[in-house]
Amino acid sequence: MAEHLPKHRILTLIGPPGVGKGTIAELLVKKLGIPHISTGDLFRNAMNGRHVLDKKIGTYMRKNKFVPDSITLPFIFHELTKRKYKNGVILDGFPRTLVQAKALETHAKNTPHVDLAILLNAPTRILQKRLSSRMICATCRTVFNIHSRPPKLRGICDVCGGALVWRDDDKPTVVLQRLRDYKQLTAPIVRFYCTSNRLIQIDADATPKVILHCLIEAIAQKGF
Ligand code: AMP
Repeated sequence: MAEHLPKHRILTLIGPPGVGKGTIAELLVKKLGIPHISTGDLFRNAMNGRHVLDKKIGTYMRKNKFVPDSITLPFIFHELTKRKYKNGVILDGFPRTLVQAKALETHAKNTPHVDLAILLNAPTRILQKRLSSRMICATCRTVFNIHSRPPKLRGICDVCGGALVWRDDDKPTVVLQRLRDYKQLTAPIVRFYCTSNRLIQIDADATPKVILHCLIEAIAQKGF
């Protein structure tokens, strides 16, 4: 067991692609004062590395396939050992399968923690619209939306001045596949957290401010 596993607060954000997990995670980081791990961002950074493992990650990412558990689990558990997560962490994109949810449970079982899963949901047509209008900063990964969260200067990140780009996996055909993968592989973990009374469900067809407000109330009710 690693030395610095998060002791008290592991919060996971679940939801289909485009539902706004990254945006809400950013707001929660400020509100709760605990850091955030996006497995998608970790993998995107790793895939340009020179190690054999980085190259393997790149192979799956470029095909828009889930990175296998044999890589994902050690990768994320290693990340969780870092000191910055000692008081807790907001996970975005992990667990993404039932196997991963169960593995996280086993991994963290010797540490006293409250594990809360937040399910963000919105109708498919909203998700498709959001994904087709999403841009991210190539440097700091801040997410923008050309309709609901436009940058002050076209194509330029408000936060760091980096260039805004479209994500390859936001193309319409890839989006459909990602939504199918979500239904088949990720949706089952909702029941897993629901049966142990650790699930909060939030309607994400609203502004980030409204979503955050509902979320903070729901989190407080759970004693988090
Ligand atoms: P995201 O930015 O969360 O949409 O993730 C982008 C890509 O990273 C996914 O399409 C997967 O290829 C990979 N990925 C992210 N999280 C996981 C995970 N928990 N398990 C396996 N693959 C993942």
